[in-house]
Amino acid sequence: MAEPATQASSHVGDDIIIEMAGVNKWYGDFHVLKNIDLTVYKGERIVICGPSGSGKSTLIRCINRLEEHQRGDIVVDGVTLGNDVRQVDQVRREVGMVFQHFNLFPHLSVLDNLTLAPIWVRKMPKREAEEIAMHYLTRVKIPEQAAKYPGQLSGGQQQRVAIARSLCMNPKIMLFDEPTSALDPEMIKEVLDVMVELAESGMTMLVVTHEMGFANKVADRVIFMDYGEIVEQNVPSEFFSNPKSERTKLFLSQIL
Ligand code: ADP
Ligand code: MG
Repeated sequence: MAEPATQASSHVGDDIIIEMAGVNKWYGDFHVLKNIDLTVYKGERIVICGPSGSGKSTLIRCINRLEEHQRGDIVVDGVTLGNDVRQVDQVRREVGMVFQHFNLFPHLSVLDNLTLAPIWVRKMPKREAEEIAMHYLTRVKIPEQAAKYPGQLSGGQQQRVAIARSLCMNPKIMLFDEPTSALDPEMIKEVLDVMVELAESGMTMLVVTHEMGFANKVADRVIFMDYGEIVEQNVPSEFFSNPKSERTKLFLSQIL
C-alpha cells in the first residue's frame, strides 16, 4: 500500500505554476502514471527520485507534452494541456528541458546551438540572439567555447551548453531529466553547480535525479515515485531522515 501522497507544506509563494490532477497515462496496456496529483508553486525546486522504470521521465515529459496523458488534467501557467496545438506551443515556450544525453545539434557550433531557436522560433535578430547566448554561456562558465562544436567539448561542458540553450528561450520552468547520470564523476559537480545557481536565481525547477546532495541543498520538496505513483513527498530534511513508506526506505537504503 502506498502512503497517502500529501503535499509538503513548504513552498516559496502562493502562485501555482503547474497543476496535475488525477493524471493517468498508459503505454498500450501498461499503466505508467497512476492518479498523479501534483501542485508546483512558482519558484519551487522539486527533486523527483525513484527506481528505474517508475515513471519519472514520463511524468516530467507530460508537463511539456512530449508525452500525452490520457486521463486527468495538466495546467501549466494557466494553460490546459490537451489536443489544442496552440496551447501546447504556448506551454512549450515557457518550459525548458534538459535531457540526460544533452541532445545538442552536432553539426552546429555551440553559439549556433544557442541562437537557433531564438532566431527561428522567436524571430529574434541574430545579433541580439548572440548577445543573449553569450550572456548564458558566461553564466554556465564556458563563454570561451562558443565557436566550438559539441563533439569538441567534454560531457560536462556539453550539458552546460544544453542548460544555456534552454535558458536562451527565457523559460518560466526548467525540467531536468537525470542531467548528470551520463557524466563521468569529475564532471557532475560542474553541472550541479550551475543548477544550484539557477535554483538560487528563483527558477521553478523539476529535477529527476539521484544526486541526493543536490536535493538536500536546493530542493523545497523531494518526491519519491514507484510503479507510476507518487508514493511520498516531503521537505528534504524530513524525506531523508524520516521516510514514511517502506518503499522509500528501501530505495534510500540502496542509493545512499
Ligand atoms: P523512469 O524515468 O522512472 O525510469 P520512464 O518514465 O522512462 O521511467 O518509464 C516508465 C515505464 O514505462 C518503464 O517501464 C518503461 O519501459 C515504460 N516506457 C517508457 N516509455 C515508453 C514508450 N514510449 N512505450 C512503451 N513503454 C514505455
Ligand atoms: Mg527516466
